[in-house]
Amino acid sequence: MNAAYDIDGLRRQFPILGRTVYGRPLIYLDNAATSQTPECVVDSIVRMYTHTKANVHRGVHGLSQEATDLQEAARERVRAFINAESTDEVIFTRGTTEGINLVASSMGQLLPEGSEVIVSVMEHHANIVPWQLLGKRRGITLRPVAMTADGSLDMDDFRAAFNDRTSMVAMCHVSNVLGTVNPVKEIIAEAHRHGVPALIDGAQAVSHMHVDVRELDADFYVFSSHKMYGPTGVGVLYGKRKWLEMMPPYQGGGEMIGHVGFDGTTFADLPFKFEAGTPDFVGIAALHTAINWLEDTGIGAIAQHEHNLMEHTMAGLEEIPGIRFFGTAPGKAAVISFLVGNEHPYDVGMLLDKLGIAVRTGHHCAQPLMHALGIEGTVRLAFAAYNTIEEADSFTAALKRVAAMLA
Ligand SMILES: *Cc1c(COP(=O)(O)O)cnc(C)c1O
Repeated sequence: MNAAYDIDGLRRQFPILGRTVYGRPLIYLDNAATSQTPECVVDSIVRMYTHTKANVHRGVHGLSQEATDLQEAARERVRAFINAESTDEVIFTRGTTEGINLVASSMGQLLPEGSEVIVSVMEHHANIVPWQLLGKRRGITLRPVAMTADGSLDMDDFRAAFNDRTSMVAMCHVSNVLGTVNPVKEIIAEAHRHGVPALIDGAQAVSHMHVDVRELDADFYVFSSHKMYGPTGVGVLYGKRKWLEMMPPYQGGGEMIGHVGFDGTTFADLPFKFEAGTPDFVGIAALHTAINWLEDTGIGAIAQHEHNLMEHTMAGLEEIPGIRFFGTAPGKAAVISFLVGNEHPYDVGMLLDKLGIAVRTGHHCAQPLMHALGIEGTVRLAFAAYNTIEEADSFTAALKRVAAMLA
């Protein structure tokens, strides 16, 4: 592995990795569901609660000003992280799910009745259900794009999906089940050729690769803090100014208004128009720390480390009789989904758990994808910055034991 990558030093920053489960050292491989949090991020939460807690954008007092400055510094940090043009285009949400709901519900009001939104079969439920709710109200339907045998997006089917009713494209950057990295720049360019905007679900992308929303020319890009070493309860919606200005507010309340009267209300300027109520300013400040941590550690170095772990693990797993992998697209992210013979993924996951190994089992919030694959679910492991080659080997050895027990 890479000698310059200080895995021991890095692991010491994650106290949870030192704990045991059923008396065995924890091997945490459920990173696509949520990543663990380094001490510096936890410290920034504690620091805020013990030192700087006051409501933002409300008080004239010094503490409120400090809290506001921390939140707005975080907004600038996110802007730089994704290379947005302006902090006006960075909206804080509760997560990826809320970001997509915001766009579907607000942008959705601008889409013609009876129009079509192009998605893919590999979408997370978060990028399906909000559009269906909109569809119920406005007669908008989903056009899912198929995939090829290795779990790549079928680009021919994608190009064929457009018609004169198409009003939007909404797709994941990286599949949370298959690890497939979709060619989002090409996808966005194709959407624009047809004169429609594109939303990219980046929940599985931002902690594994550099994302530049201007280079991609994305209209909307959404992600969650808790999957990128940050706190829970915070997410980001990036939107191009031209859309955000046209879009009606998503929720009403404090923070998002200009003037309120019983005869009518005017709304605040961007980005506050979309941030009704008190935001999770503690979590937002901690996300700032998480982004610093991620970039100080190096996204490229982390991605290389994860890729090495995946290749090493796949090679070991291939020896297990009856193993089937789902998602083998070239250049895929470090997510491995598999089944062993006819064993139920839940049984495999339970036995691995007893050995201290945390993996995900089931449909991974992607039931239409499971349907397309003709299965009920998979066992999924996903690597993060702090996983080790020893953990990968322990996993492979444990799975061999489990497979033999169940056979
Ligand atoms: C996790 C995930 C989501 C949902 O994220 P939340 O943080 O639960 O809102 C959406 N899309 C993908 C691809 C995901 O992995």
